[in-house]
Amino acid sequence: MIAIQGLTKRFGDATVLDAIDLNIERGEIIVVIGPSGTGKSTLLRCVNFLERPNAGRIQVGDLSVDTTRARKKEILELRRRTAFVFQNYALFANKTALENIAEGLIVVNRWSKPKAHARAREILERIGLADKADAYPASMSGGQQQRVGIGRAMAAQAEVILFDEPTSSLDPEWVEEVLGLMKQLAYERQTMLVVTHEMGFARDVADRVLFMDGGRIVEQGPPEELFSKPKDERTRSFLRKIL
Ligand code: ATP
Ligand code: MG
Repeated sequence: MIAIQGLTKRFGDATVLDAIDLNIERGEIIVVIGPSGTGKSTLLRCVNFLERPNAGRIQVGDLSVDTTRARKKEILELRRRTAFVFQNYALFANKTALENIAEGLIVVNRWSKPKAHARAREILERIGLADKADAYPASMSGGQQQRVGIGRAMAAQAEVILFDEPTSSLDPEWVEEVLGLMKQLAYERQTMLVVTHEMGFARDVADRVLFMDGGRIVEQGPPEELFSKPKDERTRSFLRKIL
């Protein structure tokens, strides 16, 4: 349902994504791990066109984009089909929780304000923040802000949600509530591509774990296999440090 072919990104002389191929089935939960600086964020950012790839094709459902020739209309449609959850939430400080969730529906999907607000209220119920509809980000805990960040991605009804270290900025006390919401989405078979160091989450819900190093997918497999029988020395060495 999502097919990434030959996705390549260079910054100056450095090849940060080296012709990545990746197919993701509908409903699949994929966790991406790997050392710092190996291109995990860049992979997600290129799929969402937050960074413009140097080469490659990205197919999401019936939309197939040659990244070197993508026109604005295709890029907007690709963004609509892929939602992004940021490490630092990236909420609008001057908008309420409700408005943060509704904003994309109004601007990107061109929904009327009442329709978008009604959807945002449904989402707030689902993420357990109905009582925070009118609260501004500064008055919410990190965990609540990130749940709004995830709620915004849920509202978009994207084909895939891309999570870039969604719990890394959180105080430890808020990590579980955010992982809990992500697990709920996983059980609902929301297609997800998640960069995280939370190996418990990977074990519990990932269908597949990808180990990246040097801009490539070095090894991949179900979590129980990859964690207990890594084949590549780089995977073994990385797992020794984090498990
Ligand atoms: P981390 O685990 O630390 O988040 P990562 O695997 O997400 O690392 P990326 O952020 O994708 O790594 O970065 C991969 C490489 O690309 C790094 O060497 C980084 O310095 C470089 N890089 C990322 N963004 C840019 C940019 N906008 N300009 C120049 N270099 C960049
Ligand atoms: Mg990163």
